[in-house]
Amino acid sequence: MEIESLVSFGSGSGPLIIAGPCSAESEEQVMAIAMALKATGRVHLLRAGVWKPRSRPSSFGGEGVRALEWLQRAKEETGLPLVVEVASPVHVEACLRHGIDMVWLGARTVSNPFSVDEIARALQGTSLPVLVKNPLGPDVDLWLGAIERVYDAGIRRIAGVHRGFTPYEKGKYRNIPKWELAIELRSRVPALPVICDPSHMSGRADMVPATAQKALDMNMAGLMVEVHHDPQHALSDRAQQLDPESFERMMDSLVFRQTTSDDMGFRNQLEELRDQIDSIDHQLIELLAARMKISGRMGEYKCRNNVTVFQLNRWLEILQTRVQHGISEGLDRDFAENLIKVIHEESIRCQDKAMDQLRSTGGCPGPADEGKEK
Ligand code: PEP
Ligand code: MN
Repeated sequence: MEIESLVSFGSGSGPLIIAGPCSAESEEQVMAIAMALKATGRVHLLRAGVWKPRSRPSSFGGEGVRALEWLQRAKEETGLPLVVEVASPVHVEACLRHGIDMVWLGARTVSNPFSVDEIARALQGTSLPVLVKNPLGPDVDLWLGAIERVYDAGIRRIAGVHRGFTPYEKGKYRNIPKWELAIELRSRVPALPVICDPSHMSGRADMVPATAQKALDMNMAGLMVEVHHDPQHALSDRAQQLDPESFERMMDSLVFRQTTSDDMGFRNQLEELRDQIDSIDHQLIELLAARMKISGRMGEYKCRNNVTVFQLNRWLEILQTRVQHGISEGLDRDFAENLIKVIHEESIRCQDKAMDQLRSTGGCPGPADEGKEK
């Protein structure tokens, strides 16, 4: 993909900062927030929802087109370009008519490819930059699919927004970060800037700064932060909006790290640590390959002796002892468990493959599975 950057919005090589209320509620509210944000000198774009995707129909659904007019006025007064959520072709057309500079597709919209297709068709022939939030569920293909649909409509200025994933059970975050999924998206489309929305991710104003810092430490390309001049009386997402003063304090406290440093001492030390990691990875791969070879031999041996590939008791013992060992060595329990499960799965596959090969040459009894990958 030939993604173009969003530097024209004034972020230069630094992170792109988007801030504004969850919802545009009144002209006074939009103006008060826009002026306060402009005064911080830290914001590149003003965000606001004018059509709100609410779970319950009784909740505040946004002020619609008239709110676009308030935003236009805020832009005239502050010079801040505008970014608004769109969820239908009608929304896209209204944004184009009202000089909105950028749009975003929300998590619920991105979860539905039919909606994204319709919006992409409405975007065709325009050069409106588009932000694509992650879908509600932890599905990188669905996220990437929405980005591809927008790209296929001819849009080149695109960025991802990582806002976290709906949790199965209530936890610390309103939406679980699963940072690895944002990393996966960035690995698949290296040119794509991905920014973080720490407001929807954390769901709590007091957690926004630390979440934003984590995002910057993950080298995210920017932040989208909900800011309201009077969060306690906000009509949506009351708990997670920062007031302009807290936003400014957060911006002052965030550490914008570089991906590298010119300090030779640092570089040498990092190089040394990386050498150690490279060497350990090398050993890990060789050990795993040796383990799988033994699995293959075990498969043949079991086949010749009419013994099943999988033995429940042996597996339960492996799982328990390896996880315990991992924990005693300081590994995280989930990591140790996932690791041994992946290794065991591959071991079973190797044993099964070895058995099939042996059966196909008549080396052990039973019908061979000829159709299998060899
Ligand atoms: C929003 O940004 O106000 C919003 C509704 O976000 P999301 O789609 O991430 O829930
Ligand atoms: Mn919101």
